[in-house]
Amino acid sequence: MDLQRIRNIGISAHIDSGKTTLSERILFYTGRIHKMEEVRGAGTGATMDHMDLERERGITITSAATCVDWDNHEINLIDTPGHIDFTVEVERSLRVLDGAVLVLCAVGGVQSQSITVDRQMKRYHVPRLGFINKMDRTGADPQSVVEQMREKLATDAILMQLPIGAGESFEGVIDLVTMTAIYFDGVNGEKVRRADIPEVLAEAADIGRQQMLEALAMYSDDLMERLLSEHPVEESLIHDVLKSAVQQQGATPVFLGSAFKNKGVQPLLDAVTRYMPSPADREIVAFGHKEGAKVELSADPEGPLVSMAFKLVEESFGQLTFMRVYQGTLEKGQTIFNQRTGRKERVSRILRMHADKREEIDQAAAGDIVAAMGVDSASGDTYCVDRQFCTLESIYVPEPVITVAIEPQRRQDSDKLGKALTRFSKEDPTFHASTDDETGDLLIAGMGELHLDIYVQRISREYGVGIDVGQPKVSYRESPTVTAEFDYRFKKQTGGAGQFAHIVGRIEPLEANAEETFVFEENIVGGRIPKQYIPSVQKGLRESLVKGPIAEYPVVGVKVVLEDGSYHEVDSSDRAFQTAARSCFREMFPRTKPVLLEPIMRVEVTVSEQHQGAVVGDINSRRGIISSTTMNDAAAVIIAAVPLAEMFGYDTHLKNMTHGQGSFSMEMERFRRVPRVIQDEIVAERRQAQLVGS
Ligand code: GDP
Repeated sequence: MDLQRIRNIGISAHIDSGKTTLSERILFYTGRIHKMEEVRGAGTGATMDHMDLERERGITITSAATCVDWDNHEINLIDTPGHIDFTVEVERSLRVLDGAVLVLCAVGGVQSQSITVDRQMKRYHVPRLGFINKMDRTGADPQSVVEQMREKLATDAILMQLPIGAGESFEGVIDLVTMTAIYFDGVNGEKVRRADIPEVLAEAADIGRQQMLEALAMYSDDLMERLLSEHPVEESLIHDVLKSAVQQQGATPVFLGSAFKNKGVQPLLDAVTRYMPSPADREIVAFGHKEGAKVELSADPEGPLVSMAFKLVEESFGQLTFMRVYQGTLEKGQTIFNQRTGRKERVSRILRMHADKREEIDQAAAGDIVAAMGVDSASGDTYCVDRQFCTLESIYVPEPVITVAIEPQRRQDSDKLGKALTRFSKEDPTFHASTDDETGDLLIAGMGELHLDIYVQRISREYGVGIDVGQPKVSYRESPTVTAEFDYRFKKQTGGAGQFAHIVGRIEPLEANAEETFVFEENIVGGRIPKQYIPSVQKGLRESLVKGPIAEYPVVGVKVVLEDGSYHEVDSSDRAFQTAARSCFREMFPRTKPVLLEPIMRVEVTVSEQHQGAVVGDINSRRGIISSTTMNDAAAVIIAAVPLAEMFGYDTHLKNMTHGQGSFSMEMERFRRVPRVIQDEIVAERRQAQLVGS
C-alpha cells in the first residue's frame, strides 16, 4: 500500500454523542459489515465494541484498531474510549493517530469530555475534523456548536456544510465547496445523490460559502487575493488550502450529519481521505539512548525498524500486541528488541484486524497499524531491530487518585487473582496493584470508581474470581507550605568502618499544581561534597517522597536545594549519603508545615430543570463549588469543582435524586489543600488503621 493512501484516525466524542453509531455506519458503508445493528439494542451490539461489559455499560473501554477501505485509501480506525476514567487509553491511542474526528452532538454541543480530549489532542498535535451528529434532533443548532468549538476549544472551526431541513425534517447537507446538495437515498442511506441546492436555501448557501472562504483565506495569500479581486475560486484550491490548514492544526473543518438516520457519513469519509495527513506527513520524534539525543525518523519502509506497542489484548490463544510501525518494516518471524527492557522477542504472527475477521499477513510497513503475536510487552514500549536504538516519545501517565482494598472470596483463587492483577497493570499504566505493608491488604488503585469497578468485574468474568471490595479511599498527597533549612550530620561507628555524611540546604514548597512533583538543585562548590555522592543524596530524597510523615501519602510539590556539606575520606560512601538524605528528610520535612492535598474533580451534571435546585444543594453539601449553570435544551448543565472524597457513590445518589434522569461525568482537575478539620480526621483514621494492622 502506498503510504500516501494510509490514514490512521481515531473517533472521539463525549459519551452518547453517537461515536459507536458513527463507527458502525463507517464499517457498513466501507463494506466491512453487511448489516447494521442497532447500538445498545437487546441482544445485539455494535461490532466495534467487542466486550460484553462495554455493551452493558454502553461505553467503549478498549481501543481496537480496525482497518477499512474508502476511495482507494486504507483507513485504520482506532477506537478511542469515551470515558474519562480511561484517559490513558485515550492518550495511548492519540499517540498513534495521525488525525481524529471529533464527534459532537448537534444539541449538546461541546461537552466536558470533548474539552478533555481536545486538550489531549493538542498535546499530541493531532489534526482534527469536526462532525456534528444528531442533526435530526429537535433543537439541532450547528452554528451554535461551531461557535462553542471556537470559544471552548479555541480552534478555528469552519463549517463546510449547511443542513437541508432541521430536526425531524433533516434531509441532507449542502456542500459549500462544490455548491451542491447531497442526499442519502436507499434503505440505509447508501446511495449518495448530488443535486441542485434547493431554491430556498440558495442565498444561505452563498453566504455560508463566502464565510467559509474568508475563514480559509487566513491560511492562503493566493485565496485571499482571489476573494479580494472577486475571482472565481476553484475546488482544488479550497481542498489544498484546507488540507494544509488542518495539518498545521490551525483549522478544524466541520461536517454535519445524523449517523442514526444514515446521513452525512460518506462525505465525512471523503474529508478524512482528503484532509487528514498520511503517515508520511507527520513528524516522528524519538530519543536515542544517550541522554537528550534526538533520533530523526522517517516513515520509510526501507529504514531500520521502529515500532510501538500501544495496546495489549489478552485472548484465549495468546496476547495480541497492537503496534504502529513508524519506520522500516515489521516482518513475521523477525526478532526485535524491547528498548525499555532490552529483551529479545520473536514476532510469530502479524494480523490485520478487520471488524469481521482478522487477516494474517507477512509484513507491515511504516505507517501501518497491526496486531503482532508472540511479543510480550507493556503498553507504550518501543521495538527496534537493535538492542539499543531509540525510544519513541512516551505517553503521559497520570498518578492514581483512588484506592480500594480487595480480597478474593475464595482463598484458593489468590493465584488467579495475582495473574489478573499483573496483566491489568501491564496493560493499563494507571491501574496499580500493591500490598499494604501494615495491614497486609491487597490494594488496587486507579483513576476513579468506575475505572476500578470495571477491573473488579473483569476479574470475575475473565478469571472466574469473585472478590470482595472495600470502601474506596482517596489517594491524598502531602506537600510542604513553608521553607525549612537543614544542616544534617549522619555519623555511625559500627565495628570496623564508620559511616559519615553531612548535608546542608533547604526544603521549599513548589508552586501549587506544578507539573513536577520534585525538583532537586545543588550548588556545591569546591568539592565540599564530592560529585559522585550527589546522586545518592537525590536518590535518598526520592525514596523519602514515597511516604510522607503526616499519613504516609506520597509527598509532592517539593524542592530541595543542597547548598553545602562535608565528607570523610574513609567513612563517606554512596550509602552514607543516601541514608543521610533519607533521615534528614524524615526529620526536617515536618518543619515545612506540610499539609494534605486532595484531588478536586471537575464535575459536570446534566439534569432536567425541575431537579436543578436539589442537585445544586446537594453539591454544596459535598464541599462543592459551582462554577456555572447553563440551560441546554430544557436540561440544566451544572459544572462544579468537588473533592473526590465527597463523590463516592454519587452515581446511585444522583439517579435516586432525579428518578434516573440525571447523568454526570467527572475528571481530575487539580490537587487542593484539605480543610484542617478534615485533615485531622484523615490522620486519626490512618493511625487507627495502622494500630489495627500492627
Ligand atoms: P457513544 O456513547 O458516543 O458511542 O454513542 P452511541 O453511538 O452509543 O449513541 C448514543 C445514543 O444516541 C444511542 O441511543 C443512539 O441510537 C443515539 N444516536 C446516535 N446517533 C444519533 C443521531 O444521529 N441522531 C439521533 N437522534 N440519535 C443518535
